[in-house]
Amino acid sequence: MTRALITGGAGFLGSHLCELFLERGHEVICIDNFITGNPANIQHLIGREGFSFVKYDVTNYIHIDGPLDYVLHFASPASPIDYLEKPIQTLKVGSLGTHKTLGVAKDKGARYLIASTSEVYGDPLVHPQKEDYWGNVNPVGPRGVYDEAKRFAEAMTMAYHRFHGVQTRIVRIFNTYGPRMRIRDGRVVPAFISQALRNEPLTVFGDGSQTRSFCFVTDLIEGIYRLLMSDEVNPTNIGNPNEMTVLQFAEEIKRLTGSNAPIEFRPLPEDDPKIRRPDITKARTLLHWEPVVPLQEGLTKTIDYFRRVL
Ligand code: UDP
Repeated sequence: MTRALITGGAGFLGSHLCELFLERGHEVICIDNFITGNPANIQHLIGREGFSFVKYDVTNYIHIDGPLDYVLHFASPASPIDYLEKPIQTLKVGSLGTHKTLGVAKDKGARYLIASTSEVYGDPLVHPQKEDYWGNVNPVGPRGVYDEAKRFAEAMTMAYHRFHGVQTRIVRIFNTYGPRMRIRDGRVVPAFISQALRNEPLTVFGDGSQTRSFCFVTDLIEGIYRLLMSDEVNPTNIGNPNEMTVLQFAEEIKRLTGSNAPIEFRPLPEDDPKIRRPDITKARTLLHWEPVVPLQEGLTKTIDYFRRVL
């Protein structure tokens, strides 16, 4: 049996990864300190064969007994509100946490995968975003703590690959949604769904003309698994190229929830990217991967989840 260490394993993406790894016959050691992760996300895995959990902050030295085949570093605050509230933790987990987890991978001879982000492209001047675009990031703006931590994480990962010969993979994750997102993490999907279900105004930032492209979580996790099992060392975009404006997205949530809640416009946050859509040619060609869950189907599952937890 192979063993995987998954940091941030009690988070939104991490918990879905833990499940997939268990389903595919790997042992999973899940680490989380619950800064933004949630014990409820892994409650159903506790006691399951092959699963173990350690509550720990991965910016400190990590010791794991026994062999490891894979290390996946998914621990990080991941919503703009979270980085505003936890700027230092965001920088530390992307920098120190990446260093510590790479150290474990090197020590154990394990394959390493870092969760990077479309935020490395910043407010992009190239559209759609391809992996060879270097980005347009404001290092000192409010989002800089996340963007620069992830850019550092990519650089550190490549350094461990080039200097220490660690087998590394870099996934650039675009906007993803699905069950287990935190209701109050401030991101547009939980915000609009919970507002619609409570019949409160949907808060559209700016004039709502900024675009995003939303990927359902099961599609994303499958893409990440394929990338890990591939030979591709350079960054790879995983996301859904189905782009829409935030205003269109608000209308879609109203339609699917059957809500009559009004739409209210609020100021656009600083450095909010105006457009975002992944070019997934590389994932399609190399991993034979593309998203298969249509928006309406994914959103219906997500809305069902929020109805249960609200
Ligand atoms: N947004 C919005 N209302 C909200 C939350 C977010 O209009 O209540 C917008 C936000 O300004 C951004 C987009 O939705 O343009 C996606 O925001 P999110 O926080 O989900 O993540 P981002 O893609 O900016 O990292």
